[in-house]
Amino acid sequence: MLGVAKTASEDEIKKAYRQIAIKYHPDRNPGDKEAEEKFKEAAEAYDVLHDPKKRQQYDQFGFSGPMGGGGFGGFGGASMNMDDIFSMFGDIFGGHGFGGFGGGGRVQQQRGNDLRLKVRLTLEEINKGVTKKFKLRKDIACDHCGGSGAEDHSGKDTCPTCHGSGVITHTTQSIFGMMQTQGTCPTCHGTGEVIKNKCHECGGTGVKKGEEVVEINIPAGVAEGMVVNVPGKGNAGPNNGINGDIQVFIEEEPNNTFVRDGNDLIYNLLLDFPTAALGGEVEIPSIEGAKLKVKIENGTQPGKTLRLRGKGLPAVQGYGRGRGDLVVNISVYVPKTLSRDEKQMLEKMRDSDNFTGDKQTRDSIFNRFKNYFS
Ligand SMILES: [Zn+2]
Ligand SMILES: [Zn+2]
Repeated sequence: MLGVAKTASEDEIKKAYRQIAIKYHPDRNPGDKEAEEKFKEAAEAYDVLHDPKKRQQYDQFGFSGPMGGGGFGGFGGASMNMDDIFSMFGDIFGGHGFGGFGGGGRVQQQRGNDLRLKVRLTLEEINKGVTKKFKLRKDIACDHCGGSGAEDHSGKDTCPTCHGSGVITHTTQSIFGMMQTQGTCPTCHGTGEVIKNKCHECGGTGVKKGEEVVEINIPAGVAEGMVVNVPGKGNAGPNNGINGDIQVFIEEEPNNTFVRDGNDLIYNLLLDFPTAALGGEVEIPSIEGAKLKVKIENGTQPGKTLRLRGKGLPAVQGYGRGRGDLVVNISVYVPKTLSRDEKQMLEKMRDSDNFTGDKQTRDSIFNRFKNYFS
């Protein structure tokens, strides 16, 4: 739809969409149903591709992806309405977007700002998923006016700046000639109306600073640097507008037992020498808490790796291939002090050809060299 490669960057997608949006814009193609359909389809494609979460699903599953209820809204069916599309423009065209480009002025609702939080999680919390409570200082609806911003029922006047359209037009000279751009009216913030008698508590904004306890569910499998978006829990929108979101930035606490590698966990097992030589069974910790029994083959060498399938961390909802693995890296413990008896036993072993590790190593390195030069 946008004519971009699967590997296209955010910028390329944005550029491609901008061109199509301008070409098929309804104002340029009045009454042209086909252009309108193309305009909507491109908007849907852009909506999917510019959202990293949706794009990941698209890359994996295509447009019939596991979103439930008809996938992404089915291309061609144009599930987005014109309001959705225009509200997206701010993101692409920067600043005020096209505002009332759709002709005749669009009354906008104001949106509260997003809030950003950092949360530090242990590996155990990441394994299970966790609900965190935050006491936030944020814009909440003014209780005096109920969020409307009006002191009484005297109502509203038409905005004197934009005369009710919610937009103002700038004319600028550019290399393409005279350009008209439209932006949101700064007086009424696009609503087209101003309150006659403003609330004395909030000064007419309908919001004030307050505290709110917010519970945030963090899904299992998140990782350092991920951002969990919580819609509608951010600052209240002015004049009963739309609430902003909360973006939760994930930080990971280092773990004493495991090292994380994607969804895999790495455990360094220091094996005792007799078990490495004789074979046996050892217990290792798991992220779930219960110990795991692991069979050790006789003659296990340091540096050997065991992979316990599905004993790692879960994938974040719907992505990846289920749980990662627990990777056990084996090293062998060499005693630092020895009793007289142990010393004697080991000296006896050293004399046995079977224990001459260094000779075996030397031989194999020598052979490799020989093969290399022959
Ligand atoms: Zn108020
Ligand atoms: Zn105005």
